[in-house]
Amino acid sequence: EFWTIDARLLKRGGTSFEASLVSINGDRKKPEITDEKSATDIVSDLEGGSFRVSGFETKETRRRPAAPFITSSLQQEASRRLRFSASRTMTLAQQLYEGIEIVGSEQVGLITYMRTDSTSVSASALSETADYVKQKFGSTYCPEKPRQYSRKVQGAQEAHEAVRPTSVFRTPESLRANLERDQYRLYDLIWKRMVASQMVDALYDRTVIDSEIKGVSSDIPYIFRATGSVPKFDGFRILYTEGRDDVSGEEDEERGLPQLKVGEPLLCNGIESEQNFSQPPPRFTEATLIKNLENEGIGRPSTYASIIGTIQDRDYVRRDRGRFIPTKLGLVVTEFLTEYFRDIMDIGFTADMEKRLDEIAEGLIKWNPMLLEFFEPFDTSIGAAKEKAKRVERSRLDEESDQVCEQCERPMVIRGGRNGRFIACTGFPDCKNTKPLTIGVGCPECKIGELAERKSKRGIFFGCTNYPNCKFAVNSKPMTQPCPDCSGLLIQGRGSNARCASKECGFRGQVEDGDSSGGARSDEYREVAS
Ligand SMILES: [Zn+2]
Ligand SMILES: [Zn+2]
Ligand SMILES: [Zn+2]
Repeated sequence: EFWTIDARLLKRGGTSFEASLVSINGDRKKPEITDEKSATDIVSDLEGGSFRVSGFETKETRRRPAAPFITSSLQQEASRRLRFSASRTMTLAQQLYEGIEIVGSEQVGLITYMRTDSTSVSASALSETADYVKQKFGSTYCPEKPRQYSRKVQGAQEAHEAVRPTSVFRTPESLRANLERDQYRLYDLIWKRMVASQMVDALYDRTVIDSEIKGVSSDIPYIFRATGSVPKFDGFRILYTEGRDDVSGEEDEERGLPQLKVGEPLLCNGIESEQNFSQPPPRFTEATLIKNLENEGIGRPSTYASIIGTIQDRDYVRRDRGRFIPTKLGLVVTEFLTEYFRDIMDIGFTADMEKRLDEIAEGLIKWNPMLLEFFEPFDTSIGAAKEKAKRVERSRLDEESDQVCEQCERPMVIRGGRNGRFIACTGFPDCKNTKPLTIGVGCPECKIGELAERKSKRGIFFGCTNYPNCKFAVNSKPMTQPCPDCSGLLIQGRGSNARCASKECGFRGQVEDGDSSGGARSDEYREVAS
């Protein structure tokens, strides 16, 4: 818990702006206010005092474009922007790489090889991009010298280039008729990223205003600060900006601030204290997980997509509104592996292993001694685990449900099976009562059945309990509240996004989560995890 104090300030006749307390009594460090009493004491000390501008500065700042794509950044950005899974991105990229038949010409590969961890771009592609930028946007948008992106990556194979269009003159628009919708969207992203990476910086005017007030009873100075940026020249942003993961409040707000002079008096429209809680780091999305794998040196361009696929196929994590939540099974497996295979579960060990596999690939070390070195301790661990480990009790994998067995009145639990999760009686084997895992939503098609979670080879889906009489099914989780436009079935998206299941209606928008009994209970998992 911590407290922040903000003031709304304005010049007489001007527009107000918000400033935050950043210093007390000349202390350079931001004050740490940890309880309500300290916060109220400060606010009352300031009551009736007067503000004065103590610092005003405007500086030009610049933002650079992101480097052209490598596999990991392509997967992350396609996940953020297009909601593609890593494997979907790789499938589409493969198609673009292999090429599409374009009317009036032969089959032509549209992008360079998509498994790469190099950001370098060939000289001919650089000069072609410069030509394109000058023609299309004018020379003010083209840097004097081509931008060089160098990146030192573990085992990076410099022979490869970044993922880029084979010719930037093949604009996405010119290929629209030749590409399927998702191919087009991915190509558009790759193309824009490449062209923007060879454009000039975006310029901003960044203003910092410090306002001072003396404590009425304490007579010590307090400084409130406001910062804001105003775009001055769009540069590469005219074409493309990289998506963000978890937006933090630390970023400079894009807002204008009034022109002020040092010493000028300011009016105050109120001072408020606000309670904040330090947030635990948010659960991984596909994009942030890949970013972290890459930072830790785990996984390679050829394996990110399969890592993400495997943890879901084995039911170690479930996806809830775009974020990965560990299942009980995932937690139990992790606990087991950490106890008996500490090395394998160690991030540094795995990263080192990957590095040595790279060295084998490059012919720097021999594979047999390396494998032997790995295998002997591994074999010992397996022996120890076989000897000491106990079978995990079935019930440890069960997740609580709010249902009670109507046959024996014992509580029922959610249990995993080959065909997905279902509700089972804790009285098993005395009572063999089971039920589909319904989610509290009626079937919109037959209006008789209920929708229940099921699993097929292609993953989790939600189908009617009246199957096979009713074949209604959707891939994403339906919500309990109806569509605001047609009162039909709403489907969950990421965050608080939702869309209507009916194509004719087409509703898309933000809808707050209603009750979702029986479904993925992220809060419960969270408790177990912490
Ligand atoms: Zn029962
Ligand atoms: Zn139905
Ligand atoms: Zn609707």
